[in-house]
Amino acid sequence: MFRTQSAIVAPAEQAERFPGERHLLQNYARAPIAIVRGEGCELIDSTGTRYLDMVAGIAVCALGHAHPAITEAIAAQAATLVQASNLFYHEPAGTLANELSARSGFERVFFCNSGAEANEAAIKLARKRAFRNGETSRRTILACGGSFHGRTMGALAATENPHYHEGFEPLPGGFAFTPFNDVAALEGAIDETTAAFIVEPVQGESGVRPADRAFLAAARRLCDERGALLIFDEIQCGMGRLGTLFAFQTFDVRPDLVTLAKALSNGLPIGALLIDGKAARALQPGDHGTTFGGSPVPAAAALAHLRVRDETGLDAHVARVGAALRAGLAAIAERRQDLFEAPRGIGLMLGLPVRPPRTPKDFVDAGRDHERILLNGAGDNTLRFVPPLTIRDDEVAEALARFSRTIERVS
Ligand code: PLP
Repeated sequence: MFRTQSAIVAPAEQAERFPGERHLLQNYARAPIAIVRGEGCELIDSTGTRYLDMVAGIAVCALGHAHPAITEAIAAQAATLVQASNLFYHEPAGTLANELSARSGFERVFFCNSGAEANEAAIKLARKRAFRNGETSRRTILACGGSFHGRTMGALAATENPHYHEGFEPLPGGFAFTPFNDVAALEGAIDETTAAFIVEPVQGESGVRPADRAFLAAARRLCDERGALLIFDEIQCGMGRLGTLFAFQTFDVRPDLVTLAKALSNGLPIGALLIDGKAARALQPGDHGTTFGGSPVPAAAALAHLRVRDETGLDAHVARVGAALRAGLAAIAERRQDLFEAPRGIGLMLGLPVRPPRTPKDFVDAGRDHERILLNGAGDNTLRFVPPLTIRDDEVAEALARFSRTIERVS
């Protein structure tokens, strides 16, 4: 059956330069290469070219590509149990919930399959909690200017980027925005109608912009005073990227809800919502759920990820190599003030603002095509560096050398 079908479509498929080029929805601006394999901090394309990867699946592959502990955990779990549904308990999701709770101090954990879904769950939980408390006018989800929380309708409504909204209206109502890092504005924005304030401790998609600690501390105080929940979206900046397992530990401000995804399983689809005790009973059976949430294989991969972090002292490593990468980028920015502003970011979540008329794409394309380094743009004008957290010192040096040669080519 399949043989017959593929014989029929074979001539058309042969005409493709890249797998799926004819039939994949063209909703991504894909680069003209096909990746076939990953090893540590490198990706290898269909021609055998090896690229130094400063993107890591967009802050996903914290332990690098094809880490043996992750591979082994996936294979062992796949041979044992792949899906049981959420009608039953099972060991991988249960143990992962216990681990995340022990490491964060949050009482309950909800699993889903992506970052957007984790934020949807946080939004729904915040509204349902107010409803259960009889606060029927506490509906508003307050988010920040420049935020990115995902592409599903609720997460999109919390995303302050008119370009992402365009043509998708009407979006769900009850969302409002306040300027990022503006304490005075926040004072006026959180009130008795606010169900939750959601904020990225480091904004990723809008160009790697860290929150001020004072802003997050003010958010904590105002949410407490006015009865709103504080949600940290740690989907990009969590799971060790800042040099602590959770971003809230870097800022020393404790939210009520934390959303995680991306790096949690080092590459398999998973999302998680960590829930403080005071909100732990807001969602009851039947209120929310998803078929694949907390599936055994991604959960087993996440457990392997946490184990490897412990064994390798990853946080100290991130602090060291992150400082080296940042120092190298700062030196480049100093040398080429015509092209760049000073780098921003924390740990291994770094951004280098590009001055017009140059754009991040100039460097992304030249780096990939000529120097075999994979870079990525974020926001209007920023080059984002989010390599595997396991990147070695010599790979940091090599990345800086390749990037420097890329700059010479572009300019
Ligand atoms: N929140 C933040 C801070 C993100 O960076 C992203 C993705 O880039 C998301 C949410 C959405 O996650 P996903 O693409 O897994 O839905």
